[in-house]
Amino acid sequence: MLIDGHGREVNYLRISLTERCNFRCQYCMPEKPFSWVPKENLLSFDELFMFVKVAIDGGVTKIRLTGGEPLIRENLNDFIAMIHNYKPDIDLAMTTNGSLLASVAQDLKYAGLKRLNISLDSLKADVAAKIAGKDVLKSVLEGIDKALAVGFDVKLNMVPLKGINDDEIVDIIDYANNRNMKVRFIEYMENNHASSHIVGMHGKEILTKVKERYEIRALGREGASPSFNYMIDEIGYEFGLIDPHKHDFCENCNRIRLTAEGNLIPCLYFDEAMSIAQAVRVKDIVGATEILAKVLKDKPKENRWSEDELESKEISRRAFYETGG
Ligand code: SAM
Ligand code: SF4
Repeated sequence: MLIDGHGREVNYLRISLTERCNFRCQYCMPEKPFSWVPKENLLSFDELFMFVKVAIDGGVTKIRLTGGEPLIRENLNDFIAMIHNYKPDIDLAMTTNGSLLASVAQDLKYAGLKRLNISLDSLKADVAAKIAGKDVLKSVLEGIDKALAVGFDVKLNMVPLKGINDDEIVDIIDYANNRNMKVRFIEYMENNHASSHIVGMHGKEILTKVKERYEIRALGREGASPSFNYMIDEIGYEFGLIDPHKHDFCENCNRIRLTAEGNLIPCLYFDEAMSIAQAVRVKDIVGATEILAKVLKDKPKENRWSEDELESKEISRRAFYETGG
C-alpha cells in the first residue's frame, strides 16, 4: 500500500502521455505559440510501463491516461494492452477531448481500456470553436457516439466559463442524461498558461445555474473521488461537481501524476516534481521505487486555490496540458 506523508492512501496514477494537443483550449493552453518538449525527451511506452509496474506492485489500482491529447500518441493500444495484460482488473481509464476517438474507440476497448472521460464544453459549434481555438464540435460528438456504441462507460467533463458557456450547463445535463452519461462540472483552476480573459465559475455559481431549471439534492463526495455529487430527483439524474477551491477537496487525495517526460508530480497545483526518467532508462527499479517513496512523503497537504479571492495570493504555474489535469 502507498501512503503519503499525511497518512493518505495513494492508489491512483494519472499518466500524461504527451503535452501536445490538437486543441488550444483557452483555459489550458497559452495564447501565444510556444515550442513543445522535443520528442526524444518523451519516455517510451516500455519506459513508462516500467514505472507503471512499480506503481501497481506498490498498490496502485487505478490508472488514467491523459495529456495533452493522449490520442495523439501513436500506437496507444500497445501501451493499454501492456497495462491490461499485467493486471487485467486494473481500473484503466482515459481522459480525451474526443475529437480523434471515433476511428479508434473499438480498438481501445479491445486493448483493455475500461472507461472514458470526454471533455465537452459546449453543444454550440461556434462556442466550442471559441473555447478550443478551432472547429471541433462535430468530431467530438462523433467520438462520444462511437464510444457509447462500442460499450464504453463514458463521463463528460465541462469547464463552465462566465459569458462563454455558462448558459449551457443545463443543456449539457440534458444531453448527458439522454445518453446515460454522467457529467462532471469542473471549476476553472486559475493558472498562468490560460488566456487572461477567462473568468471561471465557482461551484456555487454552477449550482445556481442548475437550480434555475432543476431542484437538486446534495449527495456528497464518493470515497476519494474529487467529485461532489448531486441528484436531480425530477429526472433521476446524478451529476458531479469538481470544486478544488473548496477547503475539504484535498482531504482524501489519492493521486499522483506522471508526465510524458517522466516527472512525478505530487500535486496538481504546485511546481514540485522529481524525475524518474533516468531510473527507468537504465532499468533501475529500486531507484524508481525510492523516488516514488520520496514524492509520496513530500506530497503537499492541499492546493492553494481558494473560494476567497483574497486568500489566493498566487496563481499556479502548473500547465494542465503537461500534467493532464
Ligand atoms: N486533452 C484531454 C481533454 O481535454 O480531455 C485531456 C487533458 S485535459 C488537460 C484534462 C481535463 O482537464 C479536461 O477535462 C479539461 O477540461 C481540464 N482542464 C484543463 N485546464 C483546466 C483548468 N484550467 N481548469 C479546470 N479544468 C481544466
Ligand atoms: Fe488540449 Fe485538453 Fe488542454 Fe483542451 S484541455 S487544450 S483538449 S489538453
